[in-house]
Amino acid sequence: MTDDSHALSLSSTPPSPPAVATDGTWLACIECGETFAPFEAIRYTCDGCTGLLEVRYADVPTFADFSGRGVWRYNQALPLDSGVTSQEGDTPLYRVPRLEKSIGVAALRIKHEGMNPTGSFKDRGMTVGVAVARELGVERLACASTGNTSAALAAYGGRGGMETLVLLPAGKVAAGKIAQASLHGARILEVDGNFDTCLDIVQELAARGEVYLLNSLNPFRLEGQKTIGFEILEAFQAEYDAWPDRIVLPVGNAGNTSALYKAFRELVQAGALEPDDVPRLTGVQAEGAAPMVEAVETGASAVERWDEVETRATAIRIGNPVNAPKALPGIRETGGTAIAVSDEAITAAQRDLAEEGIGVEPASAASVAGLRKLREQGVVAADERVACLTTGHLLKDPDAAAAAGRDPEPAPADTDGILELLEDDSGLGQ
Ligand SMILES: *Cc1c(COP(=O)(O)O)cnc(C)c1O
Ligand SMILES: [Zn+2]
Repeated sequence: MTDDSHALSLSSTPPSPPAVATDGTWLACIECGETFAPFEAIRYTCDGCTGLLEVRYADVPTFADFSGRGVWRYNQALPLDSGVTSQEGDTPLYRVPRLEKSIGVAALRIKHEGMNPTGSFKDRGMTVGVAVARELGVERLACASTGNTSAALAAYGGRGGMETLVLLPAGKVAAGKIAQASLHGARILEVDGNFDTCLDIVQELAARGEVYLLNSLNPFRLEGQKTIGFEILEAFQAEYDAWPDRIVLPVGNAGNTSALYKAFRELVQAGALEPDDVPRLTGVQAEGAAPMVEAVETGASAVERWDEVETRATAIRIGNPVNAPKALPGIRETGGTAIAVSDEAITAAQRDLAEEGIGVEPASAASVAGLRKLREQGVVAADERVACLTTGHLLKDPDAAAAAGRDPEPAPADTDGILELLEDDSGLGQ
């Protein structure tokens, strides 16, 4: 299909439907353009060239086509009309006046994806992915996970009445996430290796037909995650009658970066968004796990896998971002960038957000840490309106929160003793 030669560019011509019957929805390879019917067989990558697959639609909707609530409000832009749902989406877009002022941008909003049912944006992808799994008639769902995907998979798989299996890097997953996966009934295998090794194994299991893969390599999951972009754009229109200049987000496997870019491309294709108005996609990684940043900085056409990764932001402790071929064009075409931040800067941003009443896990705070650094470097301008994505809830990683917060103090069990303690301190109201 010649139409797909510049498939991942904002100015690409709309794809024409393939010859096979597809009901207006099909899968296309982003590398060679080969197309496949969406639900006739299970596939995650191109049969011919092993390139990543993307869902395509004969008709892409405009904003006027959206109605209802949550992720399924956008079903005109999704491969199915309804899903296995827990009322995901519709997350708050918080004002943060103190942070906005100290970072120094015209407007800063925090899209808190930690407010989804299981506490991360993964729910948006899983409501669609699990519905597709049901459509395909599979029984056992699986993922490799730094934690949040496993929590969402276990919960949504349970809701859909399906068996769930998760592979986790042993000792590197936050306590709240394991507790969720466990109670929602997933079989949890702790692998003596990092996330990338876990994903290699699950991909192999999926290739052998043992499990249905629900990592973000699954093109249907990313469709659900597009709705973050729709919600942010609609909210900025409602408040400012303008689009956000920039969206800043933490990057692990770069699924969200790819999904947001796809949402924008489809809106451009539908004539609902001008190419010049597309927000600059800005990815943030931890210094100890920054292969995407490296590729953006060196101008490389592909990301090189990091074998050793480390950061306290365990959700983005990933050395081989599988969606990089979809995400890199997104960062480049939108005029965005990528930046690495230290673990100390991540914790500082986590405290800054917490002071404004917004509780996030470390990986989430990377977006705010990255924005601050880019503003200090002058890459982000003072007149920009910015949305930062916070991807997961504070309670996901209680240990990190306790370590970043104030220590509890031992206290006597009587009022006078408590008053004495408070007087010893620097005084009330401090
Ligand atoms: C999954 C996850 C990420 C990484 O998202 P990608 O789409 O893989 O880049 C970031 N933060 C949190 C909290 C996550 O759970
Ligand atoms: Zn291909």
